Amino acid sequence: MTHKELMKRAIELATENVSRGGGPFGAVIARNGNIIAEGVNRVTANHDPTAHAEVQAIRAAASKLGSFTLEGCDIYASCEPCPMCLGAIYWARLSRLFYGGTQKDAAAAGFDDAFIYKELELQKEERRLPSEHLLHDEALGAFKAWCDNDKKTAY
Ligand SMILES: [Zn+2]
Repeated sequence: MTHKELMKRAIELATENVSRGGGPFGAVIARNGNIIAEGVNRVTANHDPTAHAEVQAIRAAASKLGSFTLEGCDIYASCEPCPMCLGAIYWARLSRLFYGGTQKDAAAAGFDDAFIYKELELQKEERRLPSEHLLHDEALGAFKAWCDNDKKTAY
């Protein structure tokens, strides 16, 4: 399938999802033009704030391939990914991102993630989310255990 055909499928998934009561977002993960997995927004249906289409597609593709990395795969998102999904795309090591709608289009439909992008630019103490640094020395124990573990799977 071509890039445009794969994007068309992502958009189709997004539109179909609305008629099933879901959010207007769809995503397709493909390798060499072949679909590996698809995802749609299931936030309200699954009571899961992280069930964005891209995350759903990443989980399905990784599970199908039996791998935590999706290197060599591309993601087609019906809309420009939010910061969470963009982060997930980097963590999954997807090779390329294609998107249909933009952040602006999403905001116009009531999905405004611009504030998260703005929050990321602020110093921690200026963010809307109160956060506190606790038990730093104790927290380092987990990293020591990780560094000392010679059987770990690095990712
Ligand atoms: Zn997202």
